[in-house]
Amino acid sequence: MASDGYRGGKGYQPYPEDLQAGTEPVSPEDGFVEDGFVEGGSYVAAPGDSYPDGAYPDGAYPDGAYPDGAYPDGAYPDGAYPDGAYPDGAYPAEQEPEAAGLQAASEPGFEPVVQLSEEDLVDEPAARNQPLIGEILVERAGITVDQVAAALDTQAVDGGRIGEILLRNRVITEEQLLGGLSAQVGVEFATVLLPDDVDVELLADLPIGYVKTQRCLPIRRQEDGTVLMAIGDPLNVTATDDVRTILGAEVRMVTVSPARIMEVINTVYTRRGDAVELGDGDEFSEGDAEELIDIIDLDDEAPIIRWVNSLMFNAAKERASDIHIEPGEKDVVVRNRIDGVLYETKHAHKQYLPSIVARVKIMSGLNIAEKRLPQDGRIRRKIAGRDIDMRVATIPTARGERVTIRLLDRTAVLLDMADIGMGPDHLEQIAEVIERPHGILMVTGPTGSGKTTTLYSALSKINSPDKNILTVEDPVEYQLDGISQVQVNPKIDLTFAAGLRSFLRHDPDVIMVGEIRDLETAEIAIQASLTGHLVFSTVHTNDAAGAITRLVDMGVEPFLVASSLSALLAQRLVRRLCPECREVYEPDYEEIRNLGLEPEAFFAGAIPPHPTTEKDGPAPPPGRAFRAKGCPSCLSTGYTGRMGIYELLMLDDQIRAMALKNTDAVSVKRAAINAGMRTLRDDGARKVVAGMTSIAEVMRVTQEDIA
Ligand SMILES: [Zn+2]
Repeated sequence: MASDGYRGGKGYQPYPEDLQAGTEPVSPEDGFVEDGFVEGGSYVAAPGDSYPDGAYPDGAYPDGAYPDGAYPDGAYPDGAYPDGAYPDGAYPAEQEPEAAGLQAASEPGFEPVVQLSEEDLVDEPAARNQPLIGEILVERAGITVDQVAAALDTQAVDGGRIGEILLRNRVITEEQLLGGLSAQVGVEFATVLLPDDVDVELLADLPIGYVKTQRCLPIRRQEDGTVLMAIGDPLNVTATDDVRTILGAEVRMVTVSPARIMEVINTVYTRRGDAVELGDGDEFSEGDAEELIDIIDLDDEAPIIRWVNSLMFNAAKERASDIHIEPGEKDVVVRNRIDGVLYETKHAHKQYLPSIVARVKIMSGLNIAEKRLPQDGRIRRKIAGRDIDMRVATIPTARGERVTIRLLDRTAVLLDMADIGMGPDHLEQIAEVIERPHGILMVTGPTGSGKTTTLYSALSKINSPDKNILTVEDPVEYQLDGISQVQVNPKIDLTFAAGLRSFLRHDPDVIMVGEIRDLETAEIAIQASLTGHLVFSTVHTNDAAGAITRLVDMGVEPFLVASSLSALLAQRLVRRLCPECREVYEPDYEEIRNLGLEPEAFFAGAIPPHPTTEKDGPAPPPGRAFRAKGCPSCLSTGYTGRMGIYELLMLDDQIRAMALKNTDAVSVKRAAINAGMRTLRDDGARKVVAGMTSIAEVMRVTQEDIA
């Protein structure tokens, strides 16, 4: 590309329909182009650069520049065209007077140097040498000339824009279209934008409503004083001008997907301390997010309500597991736990602590007057379409009451076991176990390994009106219809053991005990199983075989363990590779060996892949694997969502005999492997071969298996 974004490339062919009277694009000789585009192809609007305003007083710009009509309509599938400015190539009349130099003129130092008039608009357009979007996409996105031709045919019949048609035909992705358009006008394109990239100081004078409408977001001031700004539409010069005027600095655009910009806007404006205005009633919506409430400036109750609502709304949106509202020395600090890590999200002046705590207490049915004792409550709300259960705990500290809110997404639990990555063979074996009238299904794994989800999933599978199902849990994470769930409460001596014991007087068919961690609970659970009840529970051990020795170590007689257990399921959660950006590569021998696979077999494509579902997408070629890369749709993590990897040990005669003799866990595991059990790492390796996750993920959550 040459020193500007308009004259590089070749092959401009104006479309007759685009060359309407008075809308011809302008010549490069007018001078503004040189000012507006610097080397590297990035647009830098210099002070005094009259490029968009003076140059295109009547909307000439888009037409000439996008002769093939491939303007990024397709890039805004929700119809939210950034400023509604160019849908048909017409620069918006209502914006024109303002945009056309008024701001620049009113601002010292921004006096337009070049004022163009109609006479300056000559026949030879600046964009004449600009490559067609179709050509760019052939080169950059690897689409074929035939695909472009097919899109042109569609366009000839149905109208529309080439880029949009290609996007709709799934020939290109939104990212490719945006990348192509950026290349066309010489603006950089970034696939990644993170909230942490943004310097919130720059946003002080930019209302959220403005940046949302324009799909733009200043990122940071660079060493040379220019401000780097993300923009959803590389042609949106209005935003560039406005931001330049407001910040008093030159602006360098970088194209980022509009959806990503909107997400980051929501996050950074929230972090800045603004509250999101929420809809009425219990249904929180994002609709009124434009209005900002500064809690510091207002002293009536409504802002507190909105502020607290916005805490919950944002936590749910970020899929946080916990909200911590903590009194600090000078202010109230709010932190959200996301994927196990705490992030500071909000501050408020300390004087608002009592009101905030009171509001949370009202919502969760707690006693507002009681400030000296810890309290527990619950809030259930529909937030952004999801049914969220919030467990609220308050505790008095020296600096005032502190609140912890745990968020439980009730809509998330209704997953079928197959949806969370369980293979057909495991599903079949588990189904057989949970259809028996008695026996114990024990799930093992560390906290956060998805044990409860698996048990809930198993419970919902067998839940029917003719079954009496009782659970005792700590906490009750999800409320299941038709199942009586009891919350452990040590304060009133309602322990797992006490709950279980009283359950047996309620004639249950199925009992779920949240966790077995002491002999008393273990004994009652085993007793229940032996007297004709199906029992589900969990225990903290690394692998399936370890659960047997764990129970014996607690003091349970080996013969009771051997006779009551039906199956032991060890599990871990691994992240699912983002299907948009996962990358094929050839792993080295060491990686394959570490994964527990024979390299020769792997590279020969002889390892059977784990069965996949439609959403897993195709497997990598034989001898290859996928690894994480990162794109806007996965927030540049390379992963979207999680799934389980499993190790299922069925208690057959051989294993029972070993359990009876109190055989060590390693020997039990070896026997099970010899009988065909897949270890956690094996199951993970099969999922790597199937392209569902990465080697790194499996290695992260599993240990080396015994030889
Ligand atoms: Zn991705």
